Amino acid sequence: MQQAVRIRLLECGVCLDEIQEPRALDCLHSFCLRCLRGLPGADQARLSCPHCRRVTRKQPGELEKDFRIEQVNELYCLTWLVTA
Ligand SMILES: [Zn+2]
Ligand SMILES: [Zn+2]
Repeated sequence: MQQAVRIRLLECGVCLDEIQEPRALDCLHSFCLRCLRGLPGADQARLSCPHCRRVTRKQPGELEKDFRIEQVNELYCLTWLVTA
């Protein structure tokens, strides 16, 4: 169960892998920084969310780090330590 939640939260909808350097768009969907850089419009500060298509008018480098995902990572490490 914990494993399933973790995978859903931490999966990047673009590369379908674990999110690296998570960045949150205005719609609060999160993707890897490098995946966001590869989106069409990234250079013009027009990031269209791959999930909901909402446009965030920022360049990938200006986006906030997604602390929720980092916290989940931390929690997962703690869980792993406890259950190991
Ligand atoms: Zn990605
Ligand atoms: Zn979105």
